[in-house]
Amino acid sequence: MKCIADIKVLRELLKQWRIAGESIAFVPTMGNLHAGHLQLVNTAKAQADRVVVSIFVNPTQFGVGEDFSLYPRTEHADQEKLQDVGVDVVFMPSVEEVYPVNELTKVSVSQVSENHCGAARPGHFDGVATVVCKLFNIVQPDKAFFGEKDFQQLTVINAMVADLNLPVDIVSVPTVRELDGLAMSSRNSYLTVEQREQAPQLYQSLCAAKALIRDKKIAYVDIEKQQTKFLAEQGFRPDYFSICRRYDLKTAEQGDTEIVILVAAKIGKTRLIDNIQVDIEN
Ligand code: AMP
Repeated sequence: MKCIADIKVLRELLKQWRIAGESIAFVPTMGNLHAGHLQLVNTAKAQADRVVVSIFVNPTQFGVGEDFSLYPRTEHADQEKLQDVGVDVVFMPSVEEVYPVNELTKVSVSQVSENHCGAARPGHFDGVATVVCKLFNIVQPDKAFFGEKDFQQLTVINAMVADLNLPVDIVSVPTVRELDGLAMSSRNSYLTVEQREQAPQLYQSLCAAKALIRDKKIAYVDIEKQQTKFLAEQGFRPDYFSICRRYDLKTAEQGDTEIVILVAAKIGKTRLIDNIQVDIEN
């Protein structure tokens, strides 16, 4: 496995692979790798000749007062994990390599970026779309792999790729969970022992809402209120609990068939997000 920090060096290697007719898969990450990230890598390996993983904690997707400087950086352990699963290249650029000048261009995806996490974290999805667009232009992969764990992010990336005719196939990978249901996340390491015991209730609230939606007896807005109240009673500070249409993340109505329930809530200082998909037969 090669560790490359320099865009020119990476491009030279990628060029050789392309000349040899090899397909290239790309998995962008912010590091502090866990089994969720490795599931993306393994899915990528099965679908391409070469796999590039990036590790880059992108400053432009963090707001003022968010955890950019505290975000867990575990580069050595990450490299070992990627080596073990047989990644070809880990691309670990510096902030200056990715943003060498004060850039005048950004990628902004309207509508699907605006509600849910977009409302709570202004500018976050502009930062995500811009860095992913830049990374796509650097790597020029055939396929790129994203987790359903960050469902709104996936929706934003899909819209960007479609709208800008980017020549890359986006592959989504289901959320990997701990045994008690908690979605794996680098931010889980911020939780105290007590908070870690509480945290699976986020997924439990999603499962309860899914069952209620399938039951078809309670209006969606009441399910949202009920689960928000449940989370608050368990000591969370819920940010949103939203039953949405999968394709545009707008409020779902009775009769919609492809639904995603999105939740974000804080425990102490840690903000956790999760989601669950529901298919309804009318
Ligand atoms: P991050 O390092 O948090 O930016 O995540 C990098 C990629 O891994 C994103 O596409 C995430 O959606 C994905 N990811 C993070 N956690 C999980 C998980 N528990 N299951 C599946 N994919 C995940």
